[in-house]
Amino acid sequence: MTNKTFADLGISPELLQAVGKLGYEQPSPIQADAIPMILSGENMIGQSQTGSGKTAAFAIPAIEKADPNDRNTQILILCPTRELAVQVSEECYKLSAFKRGIKSVPVYGGQSYDRQIRALREGTQIVIGTPGRLLDHLERGTLKLDHIKMVVLDEADEMLDMGFRDDIKKILDAVTGPRQLICFSATMAKPILNLITSYAPDLKTVKIAHKALTVPTVEQSFYEVRGPRQKPKFLPA
Ligand code: AMP
Repeated sequence: MTNKTFADLGISPELLQAVGKLGYEQPSPIQADAIPMILSGENMIGQSQTGSGKTAAFAIPAIEKADPNDRNTQILILCPTRELAVQVSEECYKLSAFKRGIKSVPVYGGQSYDRQIRALREGTQIVIGTPGRLLDHLERGTLKLDHIKMVVLDEADEMLDMGFRDDIKKILDAVTGPRQLICFSATMAKPILNLITSYAPDLKTVKIAHKALTVPTVEQSFYEVRGPRQKPKFLPA
């Protein structure tokens, strides 16, 4: 953890209240570095892994930047899998609990279009989705990107490994107005840096020392087994 408090990061009373309700006592290192940088409007790539608190590191400033009086989509968050999209959406929901008027919706393959179209039509400032489904909505005209202020690529290395490069590029190309680009990735591999810098040449980098990657409140353990027969019943399949 860091010496900083969430109040030191310049976030609003509503977000401080939400963070307190979630039981986050102090910002994790990636949060302490990334939140003020994103709030100040920089394009940024952060090296992060699951467990580093990366979701709140981009979700907190994203919520701060979304205008509750404007129902257009303002923040677009791209995730490699539906599971991650749902997880990010849940975190956005909890963090925006005290920000009246802020809505977020996950859109991903495998879920009915009707439900997603209804949610998009009602107006939601934050849309979180997998690249393929976001592109489908864009092509159907059910997702509009003309009010986007910020695009976040979460787990960018995973998205590139899964072959989403062209979809990501099509989505980024469709965002025509001025926008902030934020990218989180477990590695700073060349293909990611090349992709991001082609859209944001003035990119700032946040790297977190390896030992500081894990939030200490997340207890991790492992059991070594020789095969499935040895696996104790209480472990998940
Ligand atoms: P993430 O790296 O975003 O997947 O977050 C890992 C876990 O850490 C999630 O369960 C978060 O709810 C939790 N978390 C995020 N930030 C903090 C914090 N500052 N203090 C304690 N837990 C946190």
